[in-house]
Amino acid sequence: MSAITRRTILMAGAGAGAVLTAPGSARETTGQADIIVVGAGVFGAWTATHLQRAGKKVTLVDAWGPAHSRASSGGESRMTRAAYGPDAIYARMAWESLAEWKALSARAELPVFHRSGVLFFFGQEEPYVVQSLEVHRALGLPTERLEPAELRRRFPQMAWDGVALGLYEPDFGALMARRAVQVLVAEFVKAGGRYEQAAIAPPEASGDRLGGIRTSGGEMLSAEHYAFTCGPWLPKLFPDVLGRRIFPTRQEVFFFAPEAGDDRFSPAHLPGWADFNQGDIFYGFPDLEGRGFKIAHDAHGIAVDPDRNERTHTPEALAEVRAYMRRRFPALAERPLAEARVCQYENSANGDFLIDRHPRWNNVLLVGGGSGHGFKHGPAVGRYAAALLTGTLARPEPRFSLASKGEKEARAVH
Ligand SMILES: Cc1cc2nc3c(=O)[nH]c(=O)nc-3n(C[C@H](O)[C@H](O)[C@H](O)COP(=O)(O)OP(=O)(O)OC[C@H]3O[C@@H](n4cnc5c(N)ncnc54)[C@H](O)[C@@H]3O)c2cc1C
Repeated sequence: MSAITRRTILMAGAGAGAVLTAPGSARETTGQADIIVVGAGVFGAWTATHLQRAGKKVTLVDAWGPAHSRASSGGESRMTRAAYGPDAIYARMAWESLAEWKALSARAELPVFHRSGVLFFFGQEEPYVVQSLEVHRALGLPTERLEPAELRRRFPQMAWDGVALGLYEPDFGALMARRAVQVLVAEFVKAGGRYEQAAIAPPEASGDRLGGIRTSGGEMLSAEHYAFTCGPWLPKLFPDVLGRRIFPTRQEVFFFAPEAGDDRFSPAHLPGWADFNQGDIFYGFPDLEGRGFKIAHDAHGIAVDPDRNERTHTPEALAEVRAYMRRRFPALAERPLAEARVCQYENSANGDFLIDRHPRWNNVLLVGGGSGHGFKHGPAVGRYAAALLTGTLARPEPRFSLASKGEKEARAVH
């Protein structure tokens, strides 16, 4: 990373708004930017990158900085896998995205992707397994079906009672989330993209196009097109359109310290894992880069406002993961908590993403609804969003359309 790009990211991390002119002044960015992307999480960073690759002049704006600690993309690690049961669309996107993640990891100073493998396991032969295997066969993925004896042999550090089979994806693993987004934004800036730190007010326009966006300092920024990739903040920016279609929920994640010298929970011996648990999923990672063994309950937590969500873990959630570990990871169940993080999912009603035009303003694209599984798809989502913005794709995929987004939560994508 060059000195300039390092400084850009450090300024972003420190909340320095110095890139903008004085509050209250008006400034046209037309001529500088063809497209303004608001939100530098994983979806915004990849959207900006793909637009830049398509030759567009892009300004990327974020209120707090790329993958800051309260953004959904701001966590330590995110799983990438192609097991999606019947949802072949997400298996394909994950596979397509993996190539981009590996390439980014190869360019970065520190790894963005750890090929730890991913193991899903099941108490019974779920349709999810059969469907995932069919899709993977068609994609040519080397996914293995593991019987209980093989699970015990390969992963003796886990307790396998009640498990009927496993699905092992050797090519997938862990993405270092915050690092990945920050490296990508640094690359974008180095390649001539503009990053600005500013909070954008909920946009307003009376016609069929958005003419400009206003920062909280009162400055107007304008471009031909706009993409809003604001994760759990989307309902606040577009309360009429998304206030009842994106549901941010509180999610807690825990990291435990293995015993000194115990490498059974290192990436060399333990893959990323998820216990399907009849749809009530627990998942986690080995001790990546010494941060500790990670575990979380995938069930949606209470509804939260990302600006008010206190980031202190609850004793109930800690007790819940310890109870789970007693069952499946007994050697870790009483180990000390190394770290806990509180984040939020930004769920659509059924878990499908939103990548569609604003219903009134035809130069505005709305991108979000990552729904607890979006990170891995960042490259594919960005490519897709860029194609809609540049007009190389005329219509959104029906599953990503605004029209398909319900107002009642009924999670279907796992
Ligand atoms: C605990 C947890 C575990 C997860 N695990 C996985 C996993 O294992 N695998 C996986 O694939 N996915 C996972 N996800 C989901 C994934 O992390 C998210 O879907 C993804 O990061 C969403 O990215 P985003 O860019 O849409 O939103 P964000 O990362 O939240 O980015 C939105 C950005 O918009 C900015 N913004 C908002 N409002 C404004 C404004 N008014 N002006 C300027 N900027 C603004 C914010 O500051 C923020 O930086 C997990 C999520 C969580 C919380």
